[in-house]
Amino acid sequence: MLLLLLVGVFVASQLQTQMFQTRKAAILEDASVRFTQAQSQLDQSTAVTVDQVQELTAGLVSATADSAAGAGVISVMMLRSSESSDSFIINEYADTRLRPIITEQLQTTVGEGQAAWQSVAVPSGRGSVPGIVVGNLMEVPQAGPYEFFIVYSLESEQNTVGLAIRTFFVAAVPLAVAMSIATFALIYHTLRPVRSTAAAAEQIAAGDLESRVDVHGQDEMARLGSAFNDMADSLQNQINEYGKLAELQQRFVSDVSHELRTPLTTIRMAEDMIYDVRDELDAIPKRSAELLHSEVARLEEMLADLLEISRYDAQSAQLDWETVDVYMVVEKTIAENQELAEHLGVSVSLSPRPDRPTAEADGKRLERVVRNLLVNAYEHAEGKPVDVTVATSEHSVAVSVRDHGVGMNSQTMKRVFDRFFRADPARARTTGGTGLGLAIAREDVAAHGGQLHVDGRLGVGSVFVMTIPRKAGTPVFEFPCVAKVQFDEEN
Ligand code: ADP
Repeated sequence: MLLLLLVGVFVASQLQTQMFQTRKAAILEDASVRFTQAQSQLDQSTAVTVDQVQELTAGLVSATADSAAGAGVISVMMLRSSESSDSFIINEYADTRLRPIITEQLQTTVGEGQAAWQSVAVPSGRGSVPGIVVGNLMEVPQAGPYEFFIVYSLESEQNTVGLAIRTFFVAAVPLAVAMSIATFALIYHTLRPVRSTAAAAEQIAAGDLESRVDVHGQDEMARLGSAFNDMADSLQNQINEYGKLAELQQRFVSDVSHELRTPLTTIRMAEDMIYDVRDELDAIPKRSAELLHSEVARLEEMLADLLEISRYDAQSAQLDWETVDVYMVVEKTIAENQELAEHLGVSVSLSPRPDRPTAEADGKRLERVVRNLLVNAYEHAEGKPVDVTVATSEHSVAVSVRDHGVGMNSQTMKRVFDRFFRADPARARTTGGTGLGLAIAREDVAAHGGQLHVDGRLGVGSVFVMTIPRKAGTPVFEFPCVAKVQFDEEN
């Protein structure tokens, strides 16, 4: 539309200039002919008296006006020049309405004997129309030099240009509107495959791997669609492959754990018998019996962890829901692990009982989570105190376990819940650990609709916060404890 407007303005101005130039040339030529004719009439005149000269000039003015009307002349004027004779004075012929358009400057130029022209605005009915006034100096017999002006109107040219511009815009506006609609429709239609591809990509991103684009035709858009579909196919195949592999792996872990259980039970029974009579053995076999006892226990624990995680993988974990007093669970777990804490020289502090520390939960799983966090804290506390806090809000219950030991860096923090992850595998361990403890803890907490958060700083300590909803089946949205290790606290 802007382009059309610019073209319109350019065409209009060109048209106007061209028409003006052509008309001006014609006017100057016409005027020159009329001046020559008028001068020759004056020269041939034999008038001698004022009245005769007066009659002669009156006739000349009106004859010129009449004969030139067809050439667009609207007025002819004859004005006294400063050089005119003072004694032989004849009347001026001036159109009162148009007299003001003859400027002093034009009059002076003409008065000096030069033919001149000027572009003027001629007053007309409601406003003005463009015009050209041409002037020349005439030698009137007896009276001397008089200025002769012919006023031409350019009204018809202006009307022609106006009509041309109006016609252009009348044609251009519907054209511009039609072009806009057509362009919009074309772009909308052309971009339809792009929109559907974007929609399919969004669906795939949201997890619907079956989403595809409808492909029609052979053009670039169709190629885009089929390339997208190919990509989605290959992505889906890869994911399915990985899914199958993961399933196979999970089944393998589960089967192996189950298979190992029977022989391990037998080993356990045999080992128990040896362990019971260890005092009757010599020193070396006795030490072996004790080692066997602790390692078999560790093996059993590992197997139990593996079975538990494979239960979560198979989504066959069943929770026994009951109303659990979380504070009591924490108290009990601390008591049960008091021996380990003492062994490691760790003192444990427990926050006072908060208001209503109860939640719908699986007591055994909850206890397992707390035990895991506690044992980890004791093991990494380096003999420094461990603070346990139980806090509640209207819809949540939280347990925070804070140690002031080795701590962890951000890299470890990101991976601490990964299976089999251990920040420092060489670290001397007092209890059995598979690197599955926190992975299981997280599954346990998630099964309750809760969240398990961690924060830590190397050399400052770590904090683990478990938050579960009071009501089973609802997600947790209030966090009465914040998992944040403060530096300042230490300094
Ligand atoms: P495990 O205790 O059997 O090694 P976990 O899953 O319980 O397995 O813990 C994984 C790893 O996370 C640990 O090996 C240890 O590196 C790190 N970790 C856990 N708790 C703490 C803690 N309180 N402070 C520092 N590191 C910890």
